[in-house]
Amino acid sequence: MRKTILFVSLILALTFSAAACKDASNAAENSGTGKLKIFTSFYPMHFIAKEIAQDKAKIINMIPAGVEPHDWEPTLKIMAQLQESDIFIYNGAGMERWAERVIKNLDLNRTKVVEASKDIELIRGEDAGTSLEHPAEEAHGHDENDNDPHVWVSPVNLKKEAANVLNALIEKDSKNEAFYKENYDKLSQRLDKLDSDIREAAKGFKGNTIVTSHEAFGYFAKEYDLIQIPIRGISPQQEPSTAKLAEIVKLCRDKDIKYVFVEKFVSPKYSETIAKEIKGEVLTLNAAHGLTEEEEKSGIDYISIMYDNLKNLEKALGGNK
Ligand SMILES: [Zn+2]
Repeated sequence: MRKTILFVSLILALTFSAAACKDASNAAENSGTGKLKIFTSFYPMHFIAKEIAQDKAKIINMIPAGVEPHDWEPTLKIMAQLQESDIFIYNGAGMERWAERVIKNLDLNRTKVVEASKDIELIRGEDAGTSLEHPAEEAHGHDENDNDPHVWVSPVNLKKEAANVLNALIEKDSKNEAFYKENYDKLSQRLDKLDSDIREAAKGFKGNTIVTSHEAFGYFAKEYDLIQIPIRGISPQQEPSTAKLAEIVKLCRDKDIKYVFVEKFVSPKYSETIAKEIKGEVLTLNAAHGLTEEEEKSGIDYISIMYDNLKNLEKALGGNK
């Protein structure tokens, strides 16, 4: 017990001294530029902040490029830096399990905290468009952690998240309200166009079932009337049982599914195994959890990722029954 208290005190001391050192340098830095300092938890949050605030803010994405966000935790260093931010934007809905802990240490008079998914109707992991029967041993009570956090994968939801970010920007920096609103309108038009293009393409899909690498497409499936069969759970760390893999193979055969999806930051091994069993192929379906450093430089963004997804969906679903 004493050891724990000592350890906690040490961590707190380190956090605050780091914060104190940083304070002086950043105050000077910010007074020179007059820019807002925004911290975002992972890529989709960074994308909307950047689109709306552009050069009016210094926007720091907390998670490094190329890192899978589900089990990422912020370092003490970045937590200390976060204490000097004007706005902290996170997705919420259970995605950043560390957020609550970090928010407790923030001075809320200084930092405006935005839970971007606020007011979006959440769906539970288990009924995220899945038609597979869950075995009895998997049945358990529901708590907050059962929510599917992948709200951003639906462009309709990302637009709502962007509106929450817009409100925070106006609150913190009202003199640039017109600039932020104009940028939000542009982003929202791009998201509307993306949404209507997916909706239009979906009318031509012959199949409606997508086998995904992890359960990231629940909101997307709900939006466009698809059925998601996820190989892994809400988090890619939730590995499938052999029985579940066999069940998915059977379902693919029954529905004449020829394509199994893979994603960037997660091993393709199960998707490949299933594809081999059904004499099919794997294709990428990217839930935009993050960008690699190369992608960051090449101008790829949420919207181009979704159009790439659409091409692969057309390929995969065009031939289904
Ligand atoms: Zn995910």
